Amino acid sequence: MNFDFTPDQRAFKESIERFARETVEPWAATIDKTGEFPVEVMREAARLGLYGVTIAAGRGGAGRDYLSYTLAIEAIARVSATVAVSLAVTNSLVAELVEHAASNQVHERWLRKLASGETIGAFALSEPGAGTDAANQQTAATREGSSYRIRGRKVWVANAEAAGVAVVFGSTRPGTRRDGITAFLLPLDTPGIARTARDDSLGVRGLGCMDLDLDVSIGADHVLGAVDGGFPLAMWALQGGRVAIAAQALGIGRAALDQAIGHAKAREQFGQRLASFEAIQFMIADVATELDAARMLMWKAASLKTNGEAGLIESSMAKLAASEAAHRAADKAMQVLASAGYRRGSLVERLFRDARAAEIYQGTSEAQRMIIAKHLGDLAS
Ligand SMILES: Cc1cc2nc3c(=O)[nH]c(=O)nc-3n(C[C@H](O)[C@H](O)[C@H](O)COP(=O)(O)OP(=O)(O)OC[C@H]3O[C@@H](n4cnc5c(N)ncnc54)[C@H](O)[C@@H]3O)c2cc1C
Repeated sequence: MNFDFTPDQRAFKESIERFARETVEPWAATIDKTGEFPVEVMREAARLGLYGVTIAAGRGGAGRDYLSYTLAIEAIARVSATVAVSLAVTNSLVAELVEHAASNQVHERWLRKLASGETIGAFALSEPGAGTDAANQQTAATREGSSYRIRGRKVWVANAEAAGVAVVFGSTRPGTRRDGITAFLLPLDTPGIARTARDDSLGVRGLGCMDLDLDVSIGADHVLGAVDGGFPLAMWALQGGRVAIAAQALGIGRAALDQAIGHAKAREQFGQRLASFEAIQFMIADVATELDAARMLMWKAASLKTNGEAGLIESSMAKLAASEAAHRAADKAMQVLASAGYRRGSLVERLFRDARAAEIYQGTSEAQRMIIAKHLGDLAS
């Protein structure tokens, strides 16, 4: 086992850290305050090749391994959780899925645009009645000649405000749940799509979440993978997506740790720096340990993904551990900063709100535990 980065991975990490510091960080508080999708920052990210990080170079991507991708997402999330997760959606849930499963025609038309960031992607799985129970798709996809008519409502679609295409899931065999769901790549300028702004989000503000009301007709060549084979494809995409969310959570957690350490060294009470109190040191030590343990799980899941191995359980473990560690890191940072953190507009306050989302999207912590338990055998018998 080798925990060293290659020279190429190290150089890539440093270049992304510089980009995060110089280009993303100055915008991070504004993105959070306004809740507006950060078009300019995303354009800069596209110039750096951050939209098709793992897509093959011959197909317009950067052709990097999954570990490099997690290094990029973590570095960006350390300054802006929103920018990081927005990139993760296009990379893991759309571009990689198109590369993996699209017809030649869809490949030709969309993959380079997605990998270059010319087109932003969205992933529309959730519905009013299909959250954790994602197989309960009520969106109907009915064959009509050489096309499909897709009718239904998708909710909480991240990036939808700016996206040019969305992966949309619909039921092609109603009543059969996961055995009768099909995935489509839907251009969002197709007539019959109404986008509605989502409720004001607590955290990861500026993610461009919208609801989509669909009554569209789309050519059968826009089916991703096999007809009725959409549910396993969603799980395939989410496997990579969860590794990326683990990286996002670790970036948030690392920023919280930085805040706690910085404050503990600067603030004095009882004539001593907070950092000299054992109670404070232990909080910081626990946070650093939990984040590092979660990072090991994430690197393991990333390595399996690079090697094309299954890794479903590992990506769930990585997301579960990292998102819960980030939540505790933000919580403990709030405790170390106390009143300095517990005010609107403090960085720790933003980290606290942003960290919370990582335990919800791309499957809640309970959903990850269900996946892990299922793969450990029949625990209930
Ligand atoms: C900021 C944000 C961005 C999002 N982006 C996207 C996106 O781009 N695309 C998309 O498709 N979706 C997106 N979502 C939706 C997200 O995936 C869902 O919110 C998530 O899957 C949970 O579904 P739900 O909110 O309906 O909660 P529910 O499924 O109603 O769950 C409520 C609670 O019950 C628990 N629960 C449910 N079933 C069980 C069970 N069997 N056993 C134990 N506990 C259970 C859950 O863990 C949770 O704690 C986003 C959500 C947010 C907040």
